[in-house]
Amino acid sequence: MSKNAEIKESLVDNFGRTVDYLRISVTDRCDFRCVYCMEEEMEFVPRAQLLTLEEISTIARAFTELGVTKIRITGGEPLVRRNVLKLFEDIGKLPGLKELVTTTNGSQLRKLAPDLKAAGLKRINISLDSLDADKFRRITRVGELDKVLDGIDAALETGFEKIKINAVILKNRNHEEVCDLVEFASQKGMDISFIEEMPLGVIAEHDRAEAYYSSDQIRQDLSRKYALLDTTERTNGPSHYYRIAETGTRVGFISPHSHNFCGDCNRVRLTCEGRLLLCLGQEHSVDLRHVLRSHPGDLEKLKQAIRDSMSIKPEGHDFDLSAKPVIFRHMNVTGG
Ligand code: SAM
Ligand code: SF4
Repeated sequence: MSKNAEIKESLVDNFGRTVDYLRISVTDRCDFRCVYCMEEEMEFVPRAQLLTLEEISTIARAFTELGVTKIRITGGEPLVRRNVLKLFEDIGKLPGLKELVTTTNGSQLRKLAPDLKAAGLKRINISLDSLDADKFRRITRVGELDKVLDGIDAALETGFEKIKINAVILKNRNHEEVCDLVEFASQKGMDISFIEEMPLGVIAEHDRAEAYYSSDQIRQDLSRKYALLDTTERTNGPSHYYRIAETGTRVGFISPHSHNFCGDCNRVRLTCEGRLLLCLGQEHSVDLRHVLRSHPGDLEKLKQAIRDSMSIKPEGHDFDLSAKPVIFRHMNVTGG
């Protein structure tokens, strides 16, 4: 190995932030239609425009060679993409990668949890917004709570290192369930994070401003039942963590509105069409599919495009729920 090859490269943007975390949306398709994420009738990306699994692996390789140590496989629902296990296996083997994680709605976990573990997945985030079957159905439009709860049990039986529940909290839809959700997570030995809804894409019958429920309100609600201890724990993501004194359960808050987390942003996102998004709430992007397909097999060209992209990573987002959305892509495209 030459001396130069030993010097580990890293991606640093114009604001001095090191990017070491890539989120990949492997599909924009999903078996649910959550009201905050998608329209009921969605037009999905034509299959020919999707990155192939091999292309996704190549991009992941380029990123790990540039110092990325954490990759999240997400979507849409990542586990509905055909042969996705092969992708987990390939990415899991990349030298330099320390953490391979995924976010899923849980519907396929009864079938796939053991294979995901065998493929090298250690940590898994499962979305669960309600423990009431009717409310769950109203939020996901088509989702079956029982199937997700069974998926969570399958993941627990499989023995992943860490399982975290993600819950988007909406006023008058599920805000009164925050204590029950914490109780559920505690009993099963899981962490939980509460997420403030973000205005990504227009959703006809859903009023985001009216549904907004802040992390501070959730914390207040929880503190009526639990003692919440502030911590300095981080997981290389945007959550701010507390621990429940009584049970030790870790409770995270992802607060894009009330506590903007752009200052220490360390991540970028790849859409299923190969667009590299430099910020969740801005449109700055680079078409990596074009780079890949115009220079087949040329990893250096791809790496250079990624290095160059750092110069257009914006300083931050500025979400305004009461204004017309300025970001027209939905979360399933963005890769939450
Ligand atoms: N389908 C998988 C799932 O639901 O876990 C993975 C993709 S989903 C886009 C990832 C996460 O983003 C989920 O926890 C979901 O609740 C959250 N999410 C979706 N749309 C959102 C929005 N507009 N604001 C905040 N979080 C959102
Ligand atoms: Fe599907 Fe996840 Fe979006 Fe819900 S949040 S519609 S499960 S991609």
